Amino acid sequence: MKKIHGMTRIFLACASVLMMQLLMAQDTAKLQSCESVIKEYPVLWQQQAAEYRALCYQAFNIALLRISQIPKEKFKKERLAIITDLDETILDNSYSEAQLIKEGKQHSAQSWKGWTDKSAATAVPGAVEFLQMARKKGIAIFYISNRDTASVPSTLINLKKLKLPDAAETHMLFLSNTSSKEARRQLVMKKYNVVMLLGDNLNDFMRVFEQKPITERFGETNKVKNEWGKKFIVLPNATYGEWENAIYDYGRNLTADQRAEMRREKLKGYAELNK
Ligand SMILES: [Mg+2]
Repeated sequence: MKKIHGMTRIFLACASVLMMQLLMAQDTAKLQSCESVIKEYPVLWQQQAAEYRALCYQAFNIALLRISQIPKEKFKKERLAIITDLDETILDNSYSEAQLIKEGKQHSAQSWKGWTDKSAATAVPGAVEFLQMARKKGIAIFYISNRDTASVPSTLINLKKLKLPDAAETHMLFLSNTSSKEARRQLVMKKYNVVMLLGDNLNDFMRVFEQKPITERFGETNKVKNEWGKKFIVLPNATYGEWENAIYDYGRNLTADQRAEMRREKLKGYAELNK
C-alpha cells in the first residue's frame, strides 16, 4: 500500500512537470502567433484599403511630374537614370505576409524563398506605368534590391511578367555581401546622373539612415525634407522595414516577450506627449 502511494506521488509530480511544460509551450506559441497577428492590420491595409492605393498613385504621379520637369537639354547631354527598390516599392509581396498570418507562422528565409520562387508578386499601383513612361523618355531604370542574388532569375521572371522596363540582369543589383545599398548606388552613379530614387525604406535613399536610432532617423529625415517628393519618392509600407528594426534597437536575437515589451515602451501616451 505504502509502495503504491509512493508511485502515485511520483506520477503526480511527473504529471505536474509535464503540465507546466505544456503551459509554457502554449505561452510561447501564443506569443509567436501574436507576432504574426500584429501584422494583420497593416497587411489588410495594403490589400484592402483604397487609401493605400491612392497613396501609391500619389507617389507615382509626383514622380512623373518631377521627371517631366527635367529640361530637354539634359536628356541630350547626359545619361539619366532612376534607381528604384523592388519590394513594396514596385512589387507587392503582401500575399506572403498574409499567408504567414493564415498559417500562424513567422517570416523566415525559407518562407521568403518559397514566395519569391513563385515569381508571383503583383505590381504596386502606378509603378509599371510610371517606370514605362520614364524609360520612354530616355531614363534608364536600375533595380537595387536586398533580395539575395540567388533570387535574380525568379525575380527577373516576375519583372518580365509585369512588363517592367529594363528587366535584365545588368539592371538588377541584388544583395551579395552587404545590406547597405550605398556601394551599389555608387556603381550606377559612376555612369549615370541619377535623377530620382524610389523606395519604401529610408535606407533606399541615403547611407545616413542606416542603423540609426529612431530620433536620429527623424533628424536625418528633417535635414533633407525638401527632397521628399522631389528626388526622393517614398512608398508606404506599414508592415515591415527599417522603422520596425529601429523599434527593436536593431536587436537580433530578442525573444517574443522582449519584442512585445519594447513595442509597448515605444508607445507614446499622454505622459510621453512632449518627450
Ligand atoms: Mg522595399
